[in-house]
Amino acid sequence: MVDAYIGLGSNLGKRRNNIDNSISLLARIGDLKVVDKASFYETEPVGPVQPWFVNTAIRIETDLEGQRILSLCKEVEKRIGRIDSLNWGPRLVDLDILLVGSEITHVDSLDVPHPEIQNRRFVLLPLVEINPGLVHPELNIPIEQLLDEAESDKKVIKIT
Ligand code: ADP
Ligand code: MG
Repeated sequence: MVDAYIGLGSNLGKRRNNIDNSISLLARIGDLKVVDKASFYETEPVGPVQPWFVNTAIRIETDLEGQRILSLCKEVEKRIGRIDSLNWGPRLVDLDILLVGSEITHVDSLDVPHPEIQNRRFVLLPLVEINPGLVHPELNIPIEQLLDEAESDKKVIKIT
């Protein structure tokens, strides 16, 4: 069993519901156990003008490898998106695999650790909340240090 971390975000519809539903669905369809969930964070978007995101992260215990977890994440995105797209449009939830134990994978469809961890406070804050002792397995830097050093131009506000 390894601990894996998944980051979730939504900026359309009932954002927290979309995330909670995604976590429930992931636990139901995947051979994994959700063991921790960070608070929700309200996050100023990067890039084009668009609504603010709600972000969080979860820790799961699993024997699955990254590629299999990715398939599950895509299935969850598809199903949650399909349910809500009747009302809200196509892109309601984004699941990103942040870490899978100390696995390092760089192939076309998958980068683990997620290459943006160190650049995103909306990822680092929930990760530190769940496991402050975590060390980035590829950079070999504690994530608390990555958080201290990350650009803080975008607002990330803890909401629950
Ligand atoms: P983004 O998350 O960058 O907004 P998408 O969710 O559409 O964009 O993801 C695009 C692709 O990124 C996915 O189809 C997937 O194959 C690839 N990808 C690579 N590494 C990861 C990862 N660690 N977690 C999730 N998707 C990843
Ligand atoms: Mg994604």
